[in-house]
Amino acid sequence: MSETVNYDSVVTMLTTVANKLKDNRDHLSQLDSATGDGDHGTAIAKVADAIVATIEKDESKELKKLLKDIGWAAMSTDAGSTSPLYGSLFMGMSEAVPEEGAIDCAAFATIMESGIAKLRKNTKAEVGCKTMIDTIVPAMAAIRASADGGKNILEALTDGAEAADKGAESTKDMLATFGRAKNIGERARGHIDPGATSMAILFTGLKEGLE
Ligand SMILES: [Mg+2]
Repeated sequence: MSETVNYDSVVTMLTTVANKLKDNRDHLSQLDSATGDGDHGTAIAKVADAIVATIEKDESKELKKLLKDIGWAAMSTDAGSTSPLYGSLFMGMSEAVPEEGAIDCAAFATIMESGIAKLRKNTKAEVGCKTMIDTIVPAMAAIRASADGGKNILEALTDGAEAADKGAESTKDMLATFGRAKNIGERARGHIDPGATSMAILFTGLKEGLE
């Protein structure tokens, strides 16, 4: 169980992610209201809708094409900086899907790493900048360590989701150096970053969708 994933299991995982993101729409906008313009829930819901719409119209049943199409759809949303970040994440994931053969935990980790590498070309943020990077870096490190340690995909995603939550929580005490939040200085402290939170929801959704 959970030794490999295929088109159908990834569709379930991504549908779960999209539903969780939409369920958290108001919460994410409230978080963004504290430090930004209060639109993150709206932005992330547009990406979630793009994921679902792309899944529904996909006839190829090929994971590589599906992820690429989701990337383009997310990129094409009117969701501010969220569009290129999530768009490049899915496009990068697509690039690492093997042409043939099963996707085991090592291959899954490589797919995630490819997506994150492409996402990071769209931001100069590093760990400590109070952004989604504070979620992504520890989550990916946990997934890679679990894969290298011989765990299966569900175990790796469980470790990844836990690290993602901690990473998002870590943004609470940070000062912002990116986005609108950087303009409010010390007032950003005490608030968890909305982009870090939505990214943690993504990792949890992947895990719950596979369960
Ligand atoms: Mg905003």
